[in-house]
Amino acid sequence: MGLPRRGMAEIVEPVNNRVVNGKKVHWIKWLIWIPWISLIVVLVVNAGGYHSVDLLMHTQNGISVAGSPERPIIIAYVFYYLVVGLFIGLAAFVGRRAGCHTICWMAPFMITGRWIRNRFGWPSLRLVADTSACADCRKCTSNCPMSLNVNGMVQFGKMENAECILCGTCVDHCSQRAIHYSFSAGK
Ligand code: SF4
Ligand code: SF4
Repeated sequence: MGLPRRGMAEIVEPVNNRVVNGKKVHWIKWLIWIPWISLIVVLVVNAGGYHSVDLLMHTQNGISVAGSPERPIIIAYVFYYLVVGLFIGLAAFVGRRAGCHTICWMAPFMITGRWIRNRFGWPSLRLVADTSACADCRKCTSNCPMSLNVNGMVQFGKMENAECILCGTCVDHCSQRAIHYSFSAGK
């Protein structure tokens, strides 16, 4: 039972759509991720490395991790609803897409990958802004699901932000067409 984190984040958005001050909460996901990934590395090393990889392990029909001979489905549902409750609670207390900002265990992978991409100047999908077209209406900022200061990014001509999920909401809300997607190596 893989939990679609992004879908969950969007479903619980009506609970509390308050803008999140990322500076106060972004460290939380690293506090979770670093011990977690470190533990995996230690366990793999202790086990003498990977001897085989079973991509469909503990899955049903290749898409679910719920239920297996070793783990009754009721246990999977308990964990599933605990995680759902966690997302709802975080949304209520922290705000818009709180789960993405605080507990997403995939975000550090994406942020790290993005950093490596930028370090090597690899081409990829990214946002590009035309500062001269911007009317500074701030619609991009008020609609950004990740609570980013998008109009500020446009004004400074720097659209690269580690927390940006490239959802395109700012692109859709800009009537001046000052933001668009580009597949390029960037600056
Ligand atoms: S929505 Fe468009 S015009 Fe308005 S501030 Fe953002 S980039 Fe500028
Ligand atoms: S694509 Fe735009 S709206 Fe979406 S997270 Fe990035 S800056 Fe925010």
